[in-house]
Amino acid sequence: MKFYNSLTRRKEDFSPLDGKTVRMYTCGPTVYNFAHIGNFRAYIFEDVLRRALEYRGYGVRQVMNLTDVDDKTIRGARAEGVELRKYTEKYKKAFFSDLATLGVEPAEVYPAATDHIPEMISLISELERLGIAYKSEDGSVYYSVSKFPEYGKLAHLDRGGMRHGVRISNDEYEKDAVGDFALWKAWDADDGDVRWDSPWGPGRPGWHIECSAMSMKYLGESFDIHTGGIDNMFPHHENEIAQAEAVTGKQFAAFWLHCAHLRVNGEKMSKSLGNFFTLRDLTERGWSGREVRYVLMSGHYRQPLNFTFDALASARASLARIDAFSDALRECAGGACAADPAPGWVAECVDSFGRAVDDDLNMPEAFSAVFSLVAAANKRLADGKLAPGEAAAAMAAAGGFNRILNVMRVTEDVPAEVSQLLSLREEARRRKDWGESDRLRAAISDLGWAVKDTPSGQKLTRR
Ligand code: AMP
Ligand code: ZN
Repeated sequence: MKFYNSLTRRKEDFSPLDGKTVRMYTCGPTVYNFAHIGNFRAYIFEDVLRRALEYRGYGVRQVMNLTDVDDKTIRGARAEGVELRKYTEKYKKAFFSDLATLGVEPAEVYPAATDHIPEMISLISELERLGIAYKSEDGSVYYSVSKFPEYGKLAHLDRGGMRHGVRISNDEYEKDAVGDFALWKAWDADDGDVRWDSPWGPGRPGWHIECSAMSMKYLGESFDIHTGGIDNMFPHHENEIAQAEAVTGKQFAAFWLHCAHLRVNGEKMSKSLGNFFTLRDLTERGWSGREVRYVLMSGHYRQPLNFTFDALASARASLARIDAFSDALRECAGGACAADPAPGWVAECVDSFGRAVDDDLNMPEAFSAVFSLVAAANKRLADGKLAPGEAAAAMAAAGGFNRILNVMRVTEDVPAEVSQLLSLREEARRRKDWGESDRLRAAISDLGWAVKDTPSGQKLTRR
């Protein structure tokens, strides 16, 4: 597999440092509000990445942080007059429920910043001991970027243009140089009761230190992949590298992958511009999680993607085409075993799909392989030339694609509870007990499945 590494600005061959399990860190949400679908573009790109790695047989250990203390969360909690933890809890829950709606595979660990203050304090202490961090008069602690010669290597900053050691007048910060950033923020009245004791007095950690401390805690000092949206690259990711590598002397993350923005009319979708949609905004208008997933996943992750309702409508049409193909294949296969080896036209699509995914997650190409399979199968069906074993082989191929895409219905396992209700309903219909049959249909529907009666028996689809 090849990925474009932001650190080297090249596509590079990827393999995990330990040869088996990919250790991957993903910058997660600040839980002060509902995430918007721009944020979800980043999380879906990361989901496609982890699923692609799994598709290629690697184990994945993914860590995604939850930023549950910063200016915005504190402001929100104070405005509502509730404790910080209570305030952020609601948005953490909403975030997980949105991830589930979008079919995102859960990460292995979701560490919250407020549960890791001691780890952050010890990393800052180490930076202070090494003479890289300094305390200002108000009790805040800053990172002196001039002490880390490699500062700027991720964002490819021109260091010659950076000024160091010049004390600037700045009302907000008491730092020595413009580029220096806060590791620890001294408590002030705006923070209310949000404070932790530290060697520098009461306060709270800066945002950047959170990710260095938690990634190293759960993944080790050096790990495989660090991801985020492109806006995270500087200063956030640059600062993460500076904090971690200054202490360990080792390479922090081997690969850095960044996704481009989701835009609206050419501008980045963001809370501050007010041009955003949350997932709820869209589901309330009748769009489903998989339709939104399809839109967010269908472009190349390094290309900006413009969000439109037309794109959602065309995702709906594409999914309907894929659903019809799955239904037709299932009917044609009728329980037959997949032809082995798979017919050439199926194998070709599997090859192109794999090649596309391996080439820096080229999803537009991967989708074109999916639709080649759909077209080839449909043509054979229309000509009456699709044998059941071939249909089963095409189904198996589509099921493989869906391990990454997770928008098809092909491989959806019917839960045991639903199959049981289905067989009870079959019996009821044999007895001509229509009342019971309708009751069972409603029970199946409550579990999220629709049952249709066709000449060849009951047919089950996801609602
Ligand atoms: P934030 O909560 O702003 O820190 O963002 C969480 C994640 O979403 C980060 O990885 C951001 O880079 C990413 N992100 C924010 N806005 C967008 C956008 N419009 N398109 C893609 N990713 C975004
Ligand atoms: Zn981060």
